[in-house]
Amino acid sequence: MNWNDQPHRRYNALTKEWVLVSPQRTQRPWQGQVEKTAAPVRVPYDPACYLCPGNARHGGARNPAYSETFVFENDFAALRPDTSPAALNDGGLLVAETERGISRVVCFSPDHSLTLGRMSEPEIRSVVDVWAAQYQELGNLPFIQNVQIFENRGEIMGASNPHPHCQIWANESLPNEIAKEIHSQREYLNHHGTCLLCDYTALELGSRERIVCENDWFLALTPFWAIWPFEIMLISKMHAGSLADLDGPSRNGLGEILKRVATRYDNLFQTSFPYSMGFHQKPTDGDAHEEWHLHAHFLPPLLRSATVKKFMVGYELLAMPQRDITPEMAAARLREQPEQHYAESL
Ligand SMILES: [Zn+2]
Ligand SMILES: [Zn+2]
Ligand SMILES: [Zn+2]
Repeated sequence: MNWNDQPHRRYNALTKEWVLVSPQRTQRPWQGQVEKTAAPVRVPYDPACYLCPGNARHGGARNPAYSETFVFENDFAALRPDTSPAALNDGGLLVAETERGISRVVCFSPDHSLTLGRMSEPEIRSVVDVWAAQYQELGNLPFIQNVQIFENRGEIMGASNPHPHCQIWANESLPNEIAKEIHSQREYLNHHGTCLLCDYTALELGSRERIVCENDWFLALTPFWAIWPFEIMLISKMHAGSLADLDGPSRNGLGEILKRVATRYDNLFQTSFPYSMGFHQKPTDGDAHEEWHLHAHFLPPLLRSATVKKFMVGYELLAMPQRDITPEMAAARLREQPEQHYAESL
């Protein structure tokens, strides 16, 4: 069986969902555009940016003249701690409940022109420390069960501001993806007596087909069950539940591999590569969550150039996700990329 030229479906062991893979379609003629985008104008400070140091934000507050990282409560928060509790249940069909939570923004750097791929490793390490501290601080609040750290990068992803930043949404119930992953990891641990992602990491290190890059602490790979063309999963090589469990060297290792992954992405289509990325850490609901294994997902939309993106439409919205190039082909393309940034011609 050649899995690279036959339609097949793959099982996602983390979510128990399936993805349809149609690699024979990579042969079909392409009539869309493939041009590169113009290099962005990079300025270290933008007077109109509400995230730059010293600038006024839309909510009326003013940023301090911060020099490293900067965390603040989102002025347009999706979740608020002061929501008063209420619930609706009409015959199990009309079900709703209020949701308390906290939304924050983390600026990675005062420099407006940077991205994770263009920051230095010590600068990224500072961001890792902030992520870990935020996870602990928010997770320790009695009503917070889950802390989701995520970055939306690029206009194509709907990111409203190019300033390097991420968001943290912490809330009192478990989000869908986390609930699915708890269920699968717990079931695997109960059934096998071992950790799902520890075992998966060992399999991937054995075949190396889907590995993009690695260091002593982290592995970056295109998961066997990936949906997005160049999706990457970053997995801690050590069994850890959250960023707060990482010691100094492994936090440095995380900073290093984040830079390498972001640089390979930028080089792939010679563009400032858009993506949604986020960490999946163990919920903070009071349970020990021994089944949970720290990882991050990079979900980038681009398919074949800086401007041609994959759309989740038609069959994907109505039936199941589908992809053409296999995760193995995608890993090979990402492995070929250098870890030095391509030169931007202005
Ligand atoms: Zn800015
Ligand atoms: Zn594990
Ligand atoms: Zn996950």
